[in-house]
Formats: sequence, C-alpha cells, structure tokens
Amino acid sequence: MSFKKIKVISVLAFSLTIISSCNGLNTKSNVSERNAYNLKPNIIYIMADDLTTQAISAYGGIYKDIAPTPQIDKIAHEGMLFQDVLCTNSICAPSRAAILAGNYSNLNGYYKNESGGKFNASQWTFPKEFQKNGYKTSLFGKWHLGTEPAGFHTFKYHNSSGQQGHYWDPTFNENGKDIKEEGYATNLTTDFALKWLDAEKSSEEPFLMVLQYKAPHRPWEPDTKYEMLWEDVEMPYPVTFNDTYEGREKTAGDTEMTMDYFSRRDMKLERPKELKKGKESIEWDFYGAKSGEIVQPEGMSNEEGKKWRYQNYIKDYLACVKSVDDNVGRVLNYLKENNLEENTIIILTSDQGFYLGDHGFFDKRFIYEESLRMPFILKYPKRVKAGSVNEDIISNIDFAPTLLELAGISTDQKMQGTSFVSVLEGETPEDWQDAMYYHYYEFPFWHHVQPHYGLRTQKYTLAHFYYNIDVWELYDLENDPNQMNNIYNHPDYLDVVNELKIKLKNLMIKFEDNKSLSDFRKITDADFGRIVDDIKAEESVHQILNKK
Ligand code: CA
Repeated sequence: MSFKKIKVISVLAFSLTIISSCNGLNTKSNVSERNAYNLKPNIIYIMADDLTTQAISAYGGIYKDIAPTPQIDKIAHEGMLFQDVLCTNSICAPSRAAILAGNYSNLNGYYKNESGGKFNASQWTFPKEFQKNGYKTSLFGKWHLGTEPAGFHTFKYHNSSGQQGHYWDPTFNENGKDIKEEGYATNLTTDFALKWLDAEKSSEEPFLMVLQYKAPHRPWEPDTKYEMLWEDVEMPYPVTFNDTYEGREKTAGDTEMTMDYFSRRDMKLERPKELKKGKESIEWDFYGAKSGEIVQPEGMSNEEGKKWRYQNYIKDYLACVKSVDDNVGRVLNYLKENNLEENTIIILTSDQGFYLGDHGFFDKRFIYEESLRMPFILKYPKRVKAGSVNEDIISNIDFAPTLLELAGISTDQKMQGTSFVSVLEGETPEDWQDAMYYHYYEFPFWHHVQPHYGLRTQKYTLAHFYYNIDVWELYDLENDPNQMNNIYNHPDYLDVVNELKIKLKNLMIKFEDNKSLSDFRKITDADFGRIVDDIKAEESVHQILNKK
C-alpha cells in the first residue's frame, strides 16, 4: 500500500519535471522557473486597511498633486483600475471575512467588529483552496479576524490590541509564535514578505501572497521621516466638509464620527508623564471621543478647531499612505528584479473606503460613496490591458471566485460572489450585475452609525435605516454625486423608489438575507463573544467610553 503511494508520487514528480523543462524550452533562459511554471500565475494580493480612493492619485481627487501615490498609480498604468468596486458591509473584519469566503456576512457569520466574535476558521476560504491546489500560500501583516489564519503555509500577522496591531515595534505572530519586532509596521510587513519570496525563489510551485498593511488605519501614526511632511501646507477641504445633514438628521446627522470626535490620541497630544498606565491614561488619551468633549488648542473658535483637527488628521493619514505607497514600490521592484513581472498578478485594494473629512466625517460604515467604494487595481499583463479603467459594479464577495478563475482553479464551493475575469479581459457580459446589496449591523459602538441595508445601482443609492429609527434614503448619483439631497419622499421619484424596492427585495432573497427587522436587530444586539486574550485593553477602552 505504502509502496504504491510512493510510486504514484514519484511518477507525478517525474511528469512535473518534464512539464517544467518543456516550459523552459519555450521561454527565455533568464526567466525564472516560477515565471514559466505551467502558466499558473503567481498572485500578490495587497490590501491596506482603510485605504480609500480619495487618497490614491490614480483615482484623482483633491490630494493627487500634494500627496501622490506614484507606485500604486504604476499598477493602474500597467493594469486595470476599477471605479465601482463596492463593499458589502463597510467595516474591517466583516469585509475581510466576506473577501475570504466569497459570501455575505449572513453566510460567513462575521457581522461586526465590536462583539463580532471570531471568524470561524474551519470554513472554506480562497487561500485554503489555493493551498489545496498546489499553490504556496503566505500571509503577512494584518489579519484581524480573531482566530489564527488558516490556509497559509507561512503566516506572520499583527497579534496585539485585539489583532489591530501597532504601528511601532509591533508584536507579530509568526506561524504560531509571538515575536516582538522593532521598527515601523508598514516597512516590517514588506520586509517579511520579500524575505519569504526570496526564500521561496527556487520553489517550483506558483505562489499566493496575501500582504495586508495595518496602515492607514487609526490612530494614523506616520513613519518618523514623514511626520512633518506637509507642516507648512494647508491641505484642501472636501466639498462636503461642512455638510449640515439637512434631510438626514437621524442618520448622517446623528453619528460620533465627525471632526468633533477626534481624541487626544488621534491628535497626537502628549500625555502627562504621571499618567503612565491604566484607566486614567486611557481616559486621557481618548478624551474627545465622547459627545461634548472637544480637543483643540485654547482660544480657537469652533470653526478653527474643526479645521485644526482635520489638518492634523489628514496629514497623518496621508503620511501613512505614503509609506504604503513606498512599500508597494518595493514589491514592484522585487518582481522586476526577479523576472516575476510577467506571470504575477498584482492587486491593490482595501477592506473598505473611508471618509477624509467628506461629509465632515472620518471612519466608514455608511452605504454612502466614500466608504462604500473600495480601491481596486489589478495588473496582469497576459490578460489585462494596461491603463484600462472599468466602471462595472463589482463587490468584495466577487474577489474570491475571480482569483480562483484566474488561477484556473475550479471548485464546488458555494460562493455568493461572481467571477469578473471576463470584465478584466474587457468583455463585460450583457447580463452583468446592475446593483449591489449592502448590509451594515454594528451599533452603537463605535461611532453610532445606524444599522442599514440597501442597494446601489450605477444611478441610485437606496437605504433603509431600521434599528431604532425607520428612515429611508434615496440619492440620485447622476444629479447629486455628493449625496447631499435625500429625495426618498420627492414625488418625482415615486416610481423609482417602487422599482428599486422590488430590486432590493430580490437581492435580499438572492443573498439569503430576507429576514425580519427584528431578526436583523438581534444580530446588532448579539455579543458573539470575542475570545481574544489580548483584547482586554480595547475592552477597557470600550467600557470606559461606554459610561455616559
Ligand atoms: Ca478597515
């Protein structure tokens, strides 16, 4: 029995040698084995945390000349930039779960960050499928799902602060063992990734590398060299910076994520030395995060204070992005220097979008454009035309089936997402999805954003905020791209509302999320029992802030 098994393996190994040497005949001698390997592409999936399209110069916007991202833009120039990749539940861990499983929160079980439990690591994920199909798989950087990463031959992930990690001298878990590293997280994460690529250089299998930066997530701590980058510059303000939330008083107008909710820690104010640790230091650091607490230098007017907080915030955020961009450049250079460019798919994305003062906000969560839209740029010279731009509706549950199809891996696994390989190849099918379904559950922590479900077409956004209010909103994105006018009750849009509601109902049925509002509210209220040991610090922050 065991003899037979050995024999089968050796025959397989022999035929693999033949295949790879045949390939070698057809390729230039300086092309690495891996580059030629049986046409299976390598994949580098880069996901930065809370990186939004407004901060990437390839997407344009008000920061493109002051704070350009030339390395990320290079991927766009050599690949395809997507304008309408949308997040199904715009918050960190739930989006990550949706991406891994190719399924909505209601199927993958991960609805919320706060009291969201931990990701069921025994469920199917796309890295597991790649691993099963002969790929070498690795993960570096932020995981943030509570459980240990599964489906990777090698991993090294942030393992502190409830897996949020730290910008400086972070603790990483390397294949099950915690190691405290010295340095800046974005640089370190790339170091680990490139070291792994180097160690695997002579390996014949194709690879899938998942490279997930902690940056530019809160608390937005830049690398030392970029701390003063724009000291003498006044950053521009988004057009919706002074949104008064008229007609959206109970939704956009009732959050804790406006410029008034930045804490002392966000503003990088220095804590008095006598408050070293414990409850008092947390209270000091997070002062500002509660209603009625305002952080700004003495003597400033409300308007000046709001601008002062924004300037601090946007400069730190964009400086964090600059390090991400530099490090994307290191990865691109590595591929070039090692002849891996031709056969490596490179993806740059984020777990959702983010508000950079848009509507007066920071953070994410809403179905509104800035947090709904995800940056998504993909380069694969063999199949994707350089410098192309796509505007089809795609969502984060579509990533997994797409990556699998690109790698030629077929699976019977149930995924709610749809592969968009044909879209990548410039051939969007006629019956391609014309709407995406959205559902956000977390409330009231953090930031007090009402749970809502809805849909987004290329022309409209319709949403129902249902937890302890009953508010519908409709936006006409062609006439009102900044979403300032809720026209749900406008008589001219009666038919549109009725049509969209039918479409919404059908999507809820299609995605098996057709439940009662009381069932939805139960999900918001449920504590899924987060069982991460080192989250204690974060929990105490939550408890302290919870005392109103
Ligand atoms: Ca995030």
